[in-house]
Amino acid sequence: MPQSEWDLLVIGGGSAGVRCSRIAASLGARVAVAERGPMGGTCVNVGCVPKKFLVYAALFQDAFVDAVGYGWSGVVPVHDWPMLIARKDQEIARLNQVYEGLLDRVGVTRLNGHAQVTGPHTVAINGTTHHAQHIVIATGGKPFVPPVPGAEHTRVSDDLFSLAQRPDRLVVVGGGYIAVEFASIFAGLGTEVTLIYRGERLLKAFDPDLGEHLAESLTQRGIDLRLNTQLESIESTEQGERCVHMAGTPSLTVDEVLMATGRRPNTAGLGLEAAGVVLDASGAIPVNENFETVCPGLYAIGDVIGEQELTPVALAHGTALAHHLFGDGTAAPRHSLIPTAVFSIPEVATVGLSEPEARQTGRDVKIFRSVFRPMRNTLSGRAERTLMKLVVDRGSDQVLGCHMVGPDAAEIIQGLAVALTCGATKAQLDATLGIHPTAGEEFVTMRTEAKS
Ligand code: NDP
Repeated sequence: MPQSEWDLLVIGGGSAGVRCSRIAASLGARVAVAERGPMGGTCVNVGCVPKKFLVYAALFQDAFVDAVGYGWSGVVPVHDWPMLIARKDQEIARLNQVYEGLLDRVGVTRLNGHAQVTGPHTVAINGTTHHAQHIVIATGGKPFVPPVPGAEHTRVSDDLFSLAQRPDRLVVVGGGYIAVEFASIFAGLGTEVTLIYRGERLLKAFDPDLGEHLAESLTQRGIDLRLNTQLESIESTEQGERCVHMAGTPSLTVDEVLMATGRRPNTAGLGLEAAGVVLDASGAIPVNENFETVCPGLYAIGDVIGEQELTPVALAHGTALAHHLFGDGTAAPRHSLIPTAVFSIPEVATVGLSEPEARQTGRDVKIFRSVFRPMRNTLSGRAERTLMKLVVDRGSDQVLGCHMVGPDAAEIIQGLAVALTCGATKAQLDATLGIHPTAGEEFVTMRTEAKS
């Protein structure tokens, strides 16, 4: 078998793997990255980037509707799904090349094919054995579909980016990020959407006010929200429709069913057993504080280690590990304050502790909450309201959490994330001048403590 030698061999060309490879190469390491698909991983190909294009497409619906209240008439929009998908594909192909170029420019060798760990420092790719001082697994995650009868008749988020036609009727199963994002996208484009969630509140991992407020907005926008609803099975009809059976409620016949029921680490076929790695109960690769597995020289970063599955977290892992291995050797730090947004319509964004999380720490907390009709919705007549919430430690006055549901929530919370990272107090927010008229200024003008 032919042999190759590397300082670092990264398996997976997504956000974590590309970042780690590029930085390691720029620090002087001989680096190869193995990828069997297009460069960029989930984020670029079937995640954040194409999803945001679809969200932008869906958001135009608001502009068309709201325009009437601002004096426009004669707006009769018709959406061309195949055209949107073709243009999205073009842009993703361009980004794939950008990623390749980024690696080529710093001298990272791209290896196309499935990589399998064959021993502590060896990886087989396309019949070649590669020897590397350090091997990094950065293979990300993949959609998880529970074993419900008829699951083979459903789709996962990856599939929706390449549907030939937009479905007229869609059932979305789940109550997390992907469920509410895709429900919003398809509803915005004109699909009749039913969202089925087994729990009583959307976005369970977030501050409870956010899920409740979002549910109200989604319902106002025409999404048929079925909370506390258990999916039982899916059948395919002779006409190619999907018949969705739920507990205690009549069945629904639709064109497509999206299972947005979580993601799992992508570890199949990697040969981890050859390195003595045993996955944890969630299927993730256990690592120590420097991302090293039980096998010396074998590391794992990004979604595959089962931390928060977010691109900026994966990028931070890649950066930290590259510096740890080829930089000054310092420990690879983990971020504790992780802002995040859900690109539903309206958006949800958050940084820091939710109210229940803050209370669980034993702190005495002050809550500031504002629910208001954003200015744009006055002339348009849209009933939708924005929610903003601050969680503050009464003792130190430190702001522990900022939460929002409303247009541009992600952009606004990104700014507040800087303030929280700097340890901002409520008094410092109060001392900050607003920008008028904006929604964001509400975060620096909330003075009245909410009653719990
Ligand atoms: P989430 O974990 O956000 O949500 C999964 C949902 O599926 C939950 O509502 C869960 O219900 C439900 N579910 C799980 N198992 C079952 C089951 N057996 N039957 C019925 N329902 C079930 O996962 P997503 O798939 O939405 O997204 C995966 C991850 O990807 C996110 O957690 C996030 O980290 C990342 N992501 C980030 C985005 C962003 O940054 N904007 C966008 C999309 C994804 P329950 O709550 O009851 O467990």
